[in-house]
Amino acid sequence: MLKKKTKEEKLKIFTVYPNEIKNTWNYISEDEVKCGNCNWYTSRLFVIARSREEAIKFVQDGKDGVCGECMSDRLSYIGFELKAPED
Ligand SMILES: [Zn+2]
Repeated sequence: MLKKKTKEEKLKIFTVYPNEIKNTWNYISEDEVKCGNCNWYTSRLFVIARSREEAIKFVQDGKDGVCGECMSDRLSYIGFELKAPED
């Protein structure tokens, strides 16, 4: 039996703010969180995920959530391809 084809889920970059991840290891205050890579304090974390819910879960589980500088490094080192949105 053939499996029903599901629509390909696209990955996006989400911004996660401190108030969304209270009670996680990297929460510092309402204005600051710790980057999951370099440990610097930052006002927001960036996460590659399929949805906002998944992005927040990744941060809560300690799987992702990095500062802008680390996200830029990641995108260039792993050869991410950026594509302009189509009309
Ligand atoms: Zn960082």
